Formats: sequence, structure tokens, C-alpha cells
Amino acid sequence: MTASPPLVVSENLTKFFPLPKGRKVHAVDGVDLTIHEREIVGLVGESGSGKTTFGKTLIGLLAKTSGTVTYRGKTLPQQYEAADFRRQAKVMQMIFQDPYSSLNPRMTVGEIVGEGLKLHSDLSASDLRDRVASWLSRVGLEPDYMSRYPHEFSGGQRQRIGIARALILEPEFVVCDEPISALDVSVQAQVVNLLEELKASMGLTLLFIAHDLSMVRYISDRMAVMYLGAMAEIGPAQDVFFEPKHPYTQILIASNPEPDPNLERSRKSTTITGEIPSPVDIGPGCRFAARCPHVMEQCRVQTPLLLPLAGQPDRQVACHLFT
Ligand code: SF4
Repeated sequence: MTASPPLVVSENLTKFFPLPKGRKVHAVDGVDLTIHEREIVGLVGESGSGKTTFGKTLIGLLAKTSGTVTYRGKTLPQQYEAADFRRQAKVMQMIFQDPYSSLNPRMTVGEIVGEGLKLHSDLSASDLRDRVASWLSRVGLEPDYMSRYPHEFSGGQRQRIGIARALILEPEFVVCDEPISALDVSVQAQVVNLLEELKASMGLTLLFIAHDLSMVRYISDRMAVMYLGAMAEIGPAQDVFFEPKHPYTQILIASNPEPDPNLERSRKSTTITGEIPSPVDIGPGCRFAARCPHVMEQCRVQTPLLLPLAGQPDRQVACHLFT
């Protein structure tokens, strides 16, 4: 278990979206997660599990419905005002999933990358240009590119622009929301290597949201598995990947193709069946009960809590098989 102090802590963090007639979407439902300084936590789960909503609520891009987030021990506001965004932008940032839609097509690369610094510093125009040029080169792009527009770049280059935009303020904590899923496989490793290099040189702490479990295992210190708005399992990334405990994690990992052909041959693979259920008006019981091969009567009425595994305090699982 990592010895570094907690940087970001969510306690019972909840984000519901209201629907007509008092119904609500339980996008994030009582999530506890502690992220330590200089740690990479990989957050995985199917589409619709609430990963992106959790990341956005954690850094204040979405208002919390209830629960708390603390940063270096200080409780963050329930709903951010403009001044809170200004303050938090210097320590928390987000890298978005789609490098095509997340960059304003009418702005030059220099304006996109320098926008945050312009708002949050009193640098002169020439110092601002120098900082933008230096960040473009740090993410592997030519400083001359600053006068060009986003449509002139490939997906991988656009994601590098998005990374420079997020990191130019030198934040401590970054939520990376599926930063590689829109990229060609050949470019994914380059972007992951860049993030790892920047993490090491800047001492960053990352929440790395992804579909690709093999990539998450590779980059993360710990892995957190979300299902239908709640945490199913958390633990050291290698342990969760090679020895998953929660039935959902087991199926998710078994259905994930392994890029190493030797490992793929020796692996017992399967396919996850059925759809993730609707997150509207979730009742009591285990959220995975409808798809779980080990479901018991108790699972349908009693919600399992996320608890440490016996003898493995660094692993937590929300399943009645372990209580
Ligand atoms: Fe399956 Fe029951 Fe565990 Fe849920 S609590 S994952 S239904 S065994």
C-alpha cells in the first residue's frame, strides 16, 4: 500500500440527475475513494457505469448532490462559484476524452493552450507565448504550431494539445477521462508514455479513466472498478487484474482482450453478457444481481458495502461472497 498522504478524498459522493415525476438517474451513488499524492488510480467499468460523472463531480465541473470531497484535508464547495473555479484550476485539471470536440475549432493552438494561463496569471504577451511554446515542445509538438488551428492536426497531436492545455497551469491533480480511447492503437502508447513522463517529472497525481483494462494495469498503482454508479472493487492494480474478487471485475477482466499474445493464449477469456441496467430509481440489493453468476437471495434485498478483504486491508470489495 502506498505511504504517500491522501490528496483527494471523496466520501459518500453522490450525483443524481432529476427526471420528471420525482424520478432520478443515480449516476454516482455514494462513492468513497481516497487518492494519494503522486499516485495513479485507474478507474474502469462499462459505459454507463458513472466513471466520467464521478471524475467531473470530483473536481467540481458538476455540482454534488450530496457527500463531500476534500483536497489536502480541506472540504471543497458543494457547488462551485466562479472564484472557486479560478482557485481550483491551479491545482485540479481534466484531460477530455475526445480530442476532436474538446478543442475550440475557431481558436489557434496558441490561444487554446495559453487560455488558462492568461486568465490565471499576469504574464506579458511575450512571456505567455514563451510558456506556450515551451509546453508545446514538452508534449512533443513544434512550437511553431501555435498559430495553426485544431483541424490541421491528427488525433494524437490534438490530444497532446489537450494535455498541454490542462498542464500549463502545473496542477497537482488531473482527471484523465478516457484520454486514449479515441486514438489509433499505434498512438495510444505514445500518449500514455507522455502522461507517465509528465507524471514523473511534475509529481502529478492522476485519476485515469479508461475502458482498456490492460492499459490501466500498465499505468496505474491502484485500480478502482465502478458498476452502475457504485464502487465494486478497489485494490493494487496488479492484484485486481490478476486476482479479481468481485464477480463483475472477474467478468470484466476475462472479457478484456490481452495485448500480449503469450498471456492471451494462456488466459481464460469470456464475454460479458447483458446490458448494464438503467440507473433510474435504483432499489436496494446488489446492483450486479441481475447479471451475477453467483447471485444469492440475500443479494436481491441487501446492498453490499465496500469493505476490506480479510487479511488484505489494501483491497476492498462490495460483495456478499466476502462478508
Ligand atoms: Fe453477485 Fe451477490 Fe456478490 Fe452481488 S453481492 S456480486 S449478486 S454474489
